[in-house]
Amino acid sequence: MTDTLTPILTKFWDDPQSWTLATYERHDGYKALTKALEMEPQAIIDAVKDSSIRGRGGAGFPTGMKWSFMSPPDGGPRYLVVNADESEPGTCKDVPLMMANPHALIEGVIIASYAIGCEHAFIYLRGEVVHVYRRLLRAVEEARAAGHLGTNVGGKGVTVDITVHAGAGAYICGEETALLDSLEGRRGQPRLKPPFPGAAGLYARPTSVNNVESIASVPGIILEGSDWFKGMGTEKSTGFGIFSLSGHVTNPGQFEAPLGITMRELIELAGGMRGGRKLKFWTPGGSSTPIFTEEHLDVPLDFDSVAAAGSMLGTRALQVFDETVSVVRAVARWTDFYAHESCGKCTPCREGTWWLRQIMNRIEAGQGTQDDIDKLVDICDNILGRSFCALGDAATSPITSAVQYFREEFEAGMHTPAHELFPPEKSVLF
Ligand code: NAD
Ligand code: SF4
Repeated sequence: MTDTLTPILTKFWDDPQSWTLATYERHDGYKALTKALEMEPQAIIDAVKDSSIRGRGGAGFPTGMKWSFMSPPDGGPRYLVVNADESEPGTCKDVPLMMANPHALIEGVIIASYAIGCEHAFIYLRGEVVHVYRRLLRAVEEARAAGHLGTNVGGKGVTVDITVHAGAGAYICGEETALLDSLEGRRGQPRLKPPFPGAAGLYARPTSVNNVESIASVPGIILEGSDWFKGMGTEKSTGFGIFSLSGHVTNPGQFEAPLGITMRELIELAGGMRGGRKLKFWTPGGSSTPIFTEEHLDVPLDFDSVAAAGSMLGTRALQVFDETVSVVRAVARWTDFYAHESCGKCTPCREGTWWLRQIMNRIEAGQGTQDDIDKLVDICDNILGRSFCALGDAATSPITSAVQYFREEFEAGMHTPAHELFPPEKSVLF
């Protein structure tokens, strides 16, 4: 547990023109690449494995292990695909990182590509964030002009190039195999796994799909060493991460801290609850993770502790809701989102989210029926573990956890609309 921030990726976000190559180089930018090019590719993979960094996109799969799971080279192309399709509700870490410090990602992409034998990497970005798309294109141009990309990277005869691809804004395209389908020009829908992308990914070739923050953390691990990285965080959740706090705190924003920091500490760092109001509930990792309440404020925010407390660290999207918020209304909005974003491929999610939405909206309107809560829980039970991808499971998390902690608010939805119980004008968000 710690009470200090560790600004590393966020260190010079406030510098003027923080996104330029010149600024990045002033802060030791591309020194890790120089060091990496002196190493054998396997030594880079070993260093990343030894750092024990777990994927920062939400699932927490060990990054070094993912790289070493790729099929052995056979002379054909191999790919690195950066998942920059950040879209988990409440998650706002990759977009600001790419805006303020795009070269950390690009340097990480070059090092990772060299390590896994990829000559052409892709950054798959949400289509809506046109400003990020432009910034990345410019940064890639700068890196190419400086000799960091192309057919002779760092003068070492290494080939690496990057294509930045903007998707069309479907939440499901953040699922790695749907992303690959979309990148190949097809409708983005999840593929059956296995085979995992490491065996057959983009164009059926060995592919590593990694989150923006995971890859941007690689230069630090190479330059400073895996012990430096392991010196932060907890034993099984090493290093630092960007926690995005939104909602009813005084100063919402991104806080880069060692994994294992608590929500109580982060709320303090964010200036406390807005207007001195009382915390009601919060999400540890976006709306796809079961909600937490005041009783979880001291849970260390690392993968295992959050799981042991009944939720998931996910993307560290900490959305804070105070006592003026109707939990029913908040969950109903998330359910609308999942029903809208369900790709329709499998029945439990396609049909189930539609029914969840009908019932949630009925309860929100104060028109719930006696058996609606049981129906909600039963439908969730039939989606969970029976859906083709994580989206279906995710849709159930806010509902079942909200019923667990705030059942009386769902019961009130049988006779009183949420807007009467929690007048929106008294709340900042709703
Ligand atoms: P997952 O646990 O199935 O897989 C995680 C990663 O590990 C994948 O890259 C997968 O290929 C790899 N992997 C897992 N088992 C493997 C094996 N046996 N061999 C080789 N590779 C293996 O999780 P997922 O479905 O990819 O992702 C779900 C997570 O995504 C959720 O936990 C959620 O937090 C997160 N999420 C993030 C966002 C966002 O905006 N960043 C949005 C929605 C969901
Ligand atoms: Fe599509 Fe939902 Fe099934 Fe995933 S769980 S494949 S999003 S229908």
